[in-house]
Amino acid sequence: MPSLSSAATPEPVLSGMVLDRASAERKDPGWLAARLADPASRVLAASDDAVLLDRDDATRLLRADQPVPARPDSAVLLAVEDGAALFAADLASLDPKARAALERRGRLVELRRAGPLLTRAEGGLAAYLVALLNWHRVHRFCANCGAATAIAEGGHSRHCDRCGRNHFPRTDPAVIMLVAHGDRVLLGRRPGWADGRWSVLAGFVSPGESLEEAVIREVREEAGIACFAPRFVASQPWPFPSSLMVGFEAGSHGGEPRTLDGELEDVRWFTREQVAAALAGEERVLKLPPGVSIARMLLERWASD
Ligand SMILES: [Zn+2]
Repeated sequence: MPSLSSAATPEPVLSGMVLDRASAERKDPGWLAARLADPASRVLAASDDAVLLDRDDATRLLRADQPVPARPDSAVLLAVEDGAALFAADLASLDPKARAALERRGRLVELRRAGPLLTRAEGGLAAYLVALLNWHRVHRFCANCGAATAIAEGGHSRHCDRCGRNHFPRTDPAVIMLVAHGDRVLLGRRPGWADGRWSVLAGFVSPGESLEEAVIREVREEAGIACFAPRFVASQPWPFPSSLMVGFEAGSHGGEPRTLDGELEDVRWFTREQVAAALAGEERVLKLPPGVSIARMLLERWASD
């Protein structure tokens, strides 16, 4: 059996949303209309990869009183907080004056950098905000017949009037896995990464494939290494634009890794000492991914075991 870590389950940044998504209420047009008219409703704003933080408190997203959407077919409701509705605003779709006014009230920060600043609950809310807006941005037309679609259910579906299809927000699962052989871990480098930067392997789940099968296939395809007994560790929303990273640990009998499918520029085994040194800030041999990523959490967990 592989020597799997018994360390505590990590709690990845960008997960941990605690608010009520109002899944039932949002389908009631009367309830939604009342929220749109309610002066207590607030707006959270984002672009495709950045969120607007509260200028006075960088651990929180800005709750602005404007611009609350005017009509149900433009409303993307996120959640209800202390009785007040929170709507999502896509900065890219606001007119330039409204966008500038909103941006002046907060601080626009790339989500990868904002993640570690935000509280856990706010980080989860930020990932949800960006993921939902990213889905609306690229699903304006029906995948079945090509006609324009309209927002429905308070922003949690889009409806096609021509063919009657409903479309729902999608999440693309990807596996990310720490493969260990004794005291060594398998790391790869993608083309274009900074010198010395390495990370654990990852890849999208294929149609008709379980998560565990995806782990074994990706490691074989990318590194020519057989791994076994993948075990789930933790998952992380990764809305760039719409992924869910599902983190695993797996064992291996070792072997000489080699790049096979062209996705990696290089792939090697590194020792626990090398990984621990890099995590401690000694980056002469190895630079690891930043704190926002589940990759780093998998490595921290393994290195401390
Ligand atoms: Zn259609």
